[in-house]
Amino acid sequence: MRHLLLTVLLVPALAAAQTSTPVAATPGYSPSAAQRERALEADAIARPDAARALAHARELAKETHVAGTPAQARTRDYVLTQMKAMGLEVESREYEVFLPHPTSVRVWRTSPSPMQLPLAEPAVAGDRWSGMSQWLTVNGTSGAGDASGEVVYVNYGLVEDYAQLDSIGVSVRGKIAVARYGRSFRGIKAREAEKHGAVALIIYSDPQDDGYVRGDVYPAGAMRPPRGVQRGSVFNGAGDPSTPGWPSTKGARRVTGDALGVPRIPVVPMGYENAQELLRGLRGKDVPQSWQGGLPFRYHVGPGPVRARVAVTDDRATRPYKPIWNTLGVVRGSDLPDEIVVLGAHRDAWTPGASDNVSGTVSILEAARAVSELVRAGHRPRRTIVFATWDAEEWGLVGSTEYVEDDSLRLAKGGVAYLNQDVAAQGARFGGGGSPSLRALLRDVARVVPDPNGRGSVYAEWRRQSAVADSAEPAMGDPGGGSDFAGFYNHLGIPHADWGFGGPGGVYHSQYDDLAWMRQFGDTNYVYHAAAARIAAAMALRLANAELLPYDYVEFARTMAGLVPAIDRATRAKQWAGDAMSTAALLAAARAMEEAARRWQQARDARLAAGPAVSVEQTNRANAALRRVERALTRPEGLRTRPWYRSLVYVADEDNGYSTMVFPSVLEAVRANDRTLAARELADLTARFGEATRALDEATGALGAER
Ligand SMILES: [Zn+2]
Repeated sequence: MRHLLLTVLLVPALAAAQTSTPVAATPGYSPSAAQRERALEADAIARPDAARALAHARELAKETHVAGTPAQARTRDYVLTQMKAMGLEVESREYEVFLPHPTSVRVWRTSPSPMQLPLAEPAVAGDRWSGMSQWLTVNGTSGAGDASGEVVYVNYGLVEDYAQLDSIGVSVRGKIAVARYGRSFRGIKAREAEKHGAVALIIYSDPQDDGYVRGDVYPAGAMRPPRGVQRGSVFNGAGDPSTPGWPSTKGARRVTGDALGVPRIPVVPMGYENAQELLRGLRGKDVPQSWQGGLPFRYHVGPGPVRARVAVTDDRATRPYKPIWNTLGVVRGSDLPDEIVVLGAHRDAWTPGASDNVSGTVSILEAARAVSELVRAGHRPRRTIVFATWDAEEWGLVGSTEYVEDDSLRLAKGGVAYLNQDVAAQGARFGGGGSPSLRALLRDVARVVPDPNGRGSVYAEWRRQSAVADSAEPAMGDPGGGSDFAGFYNHLGIPHADWGFGGPGGVYHSQYDDLAWMRQFGDTNYVYHAAAARIAAAMALRLANAELLPYDYVEFARTMAGLVPAIDRATRAKQWAGDAMSTAALLAAARAMEEAARRWQQARDARLAAGPAVSVEQTNRANAALRRVERALTRPEGLRTRPWYRSLVYVADEDNGYSTMVFPSVLEAVRANDRTLAARELADLTARFGEATRALDEATGALGAER
């Protein structure tokens, strides 16, 4: 479900590795092992195949495959059959989750000139998928109901937009709010509309943000056509809302009613052609200039005189819970089977989902094939690699979250890394992100994977496209929220990386996200799908075979130090004087962590360069300590506002959902104006950096080097 455009726009541009310490060419490998590994990776990188990627996509994107439907059982069977044929140990893991399916969705303008709005996305000539059966245009976990009222335009429906409405004396209470997509996760829009008393919410794609202002619209161009609809969940949590914090196995204890935390009001998405029918006739207050969108008339907030009716029915009374299926394809490690690298992609979609997320699923399949062929040639990885496809991501990261909650002990102990593929290929523009501890590794792998355009490596093309200075690295996204890494990273503190080839966009969560669009405007020959899989295979192998885990905690700690001023800015904005909120100790702790990481890297490189002097027992102790470094920056009780989120480094902003909040335990306390709590959280965070530093020193000590 990840909205790539937003993700890219909202990440702070951090200049990354200006590494001052020389680092081994292949961190974590002795020279002879590095040579073998490089050869193995080159072999793996050569294996993913564009024609096969396209063949997978034809099968997986042949129909809309929403979680809980028979079509989604078919994608499960396809993936299982493929992985079984590769020789992987396969498992389909079922959970039963709260998943109300809509049975009808209708919207009328009741005044003036009553009309029912045609919500379905119309078929397009030359695109046979566009005419197939489509999912009703309602947001996932919308409330059911039948609501009528005057229309109020609420801009993006952000917290600050409602504050602005308050200031001009306009309320949505008892009214139908119309918000445009963008600037925040849609679940936040639903929460705010409901909080302010709206009886229904319509979220539409405005042409200024997502339509003809951006370029020609489909099928003439790649952009969203007038009746193209962005579906999507409005659940703000992660996982099955009926089992918060525990797995949705059969017979699991469930919460119901208001405790589910899903919207009670109907929430319906629509294209701009329909929205126009509601917005054009609004009067009342003129809008602030920044509220004006791309439709060809002056926007007003209302309320009214336009009135509307929104009616949604679903099956929650008769069938609230439905089975979902994650698939796991396992390559058991030869030496360290309990240490696990997970490579995952969500397999469900609102639509045929050629980009979101058949492309990610295809990347997993082709990476799995590359690795499995090497296994058959006698090159079993040292650690276990799990090739996963998750169900119901689109409903709130449900499948991956239930899996993480189910296997949390095993993952917390043995989880080495989680690699995510969500919209792996939609064009030619490479982007990556994740924990700063894995960014150097991703850059290194991107250096050895050829860019499909034939002009050099993915890394070289990435640099060229992001036009960075010679001394800097391309900016990468932070792990805030919005895809399946949340359970692994934000909940458990397992280092995470993701990457993909972005494109023009325009069909996000629309029926037109299909093969016809992809072959005309996206990855036309499926070569970027194959490239994503090449990176996936090499990333998984590098992590699975390393003698000493190749995290870069120098870059991690330096990135953390670079984030500390965010706290200073927040407290300055509150005009909090005094020493309690001084970040000097936190900054010192991050710097101390960087020094410890540098000592570790020196010890690691020296020991590995010296040959086979390191015992298995020593490497095991060092690796166990390394796996604790980022876990030390989580806490079991989580954030005060959201206990499931345990990472104290990154989280999705509670008031935005798409943008990342750094150091959330501290910054949420600042936002809540709680000075005492903020100071306590700052001290707690500083202490946890001390623990991360101790874990690094323990790794260094395990190799018998000086601390
Ligand atoms: Zn997705």
